[in-house]
Amino acid sequence: MTKECDHDCSSCSESCSERDPKSMHEKLNNLSKVKKVFAVMSGKGGVGKSAVTSMLAVLANRMGFKTAIMDADITGPSIPRAFGIKTKADASDLGIFPIKSGFGINIMSINLLLENETDPVIWRGPILAGAIKQFWTDVIWDEVDVMFIDMPPGTGDVPLTVFQSLPIDGIIVVTSPQELVAMIVSKAVKMAKELKVPVLGLVENMSYVKCPKCGEIIKIFGESKTEEVAQSFGLEVLAKIPVDPKISAASDGGTIEFFDGSFLDDLAKKIEGIIIA
Ligand code: ADP
Repeated sequence: MTKECDHDCSSCSESCSERDPKSMHEKLNNLSKVKKVFAVMSGKGGVGKSAVTSMLAVLANRMGFKTAIMDADITGPSIPRAFGIKTKADASDLGIFPIKSGFGINIMSINLLLENETDPVIWRGPILAGAIKQFWTDVIWDEVDVMFIDMPPGTGDVPLTVFQSLPIDGIIVVTSPQELVAMIVSKAVKMAKELKVPVLGLVENMSYVKCPKCGEIIKIFGESKTEEVAQSFGLEVLAKIPVDPKISAASDGGTIEFFDGSFLDDLAKKIEGIIIA
């Protein structure tokens, strides 16, 4: 039987409309301090969510912020590969230590804990969600100005748990022009609204190809609907990223920290504004 509401959410597990989402947040590891957290999500896999997460973290780190990445895409972790990390994470009685990238970004991913990075993670939703919570509670993140979370694709059970359990300051939705953008954005926006998490806006990846010889812009997927859809939800298109073999070479070859390109600069500035606000 449901107990009578005494308005003390901390002692109650009901998920009612009155509930303050913050009351369900997990406690951060005692030895850590994380100022701002941004979740990068997408409707499906393969649209470049991890590449965008990595590049945003690289830009924040270049701006001088203490930066971290939590790879919450447990069944398809690709952050360690993007940063060329091959070492495994260590742990002590105090918690798990993240691995530092070449330029000092703190990274935690299930691949840093598995003996073999090709081992599959065959876990059901609640275990996956539990692992992500542990990334928050058990990892010694130290002092972090900004953390980017590479979310699992979709808006299912695991992302829902992440949004309920961690204090997210903003969601960035990565789409590609050929996606069913309206449906994905609608789901993400509804989820965010329910959990009282602000959506920063959309990043359209693989928007166009720029001919390396003549500079002509070719929209290989035709006219995109991202702008129109964003507007209908009162959101902003934060960036448009071209298809560029240099991006895949860097993110699949472990050299993402050396990427160049100005396509994410405006978004990085916006994030800077939120961090220093
Ligand atoms: P997701 O995290 O959404 O599953 P990834 O970031 O792993 O997607 O990207 C999928 C593949 O596409 C990777 O091989 C990545 O290097 C490549 N990729 C992502 N964005 C671009 C881009 N703008 N240009 C070229 N390749 C890209």
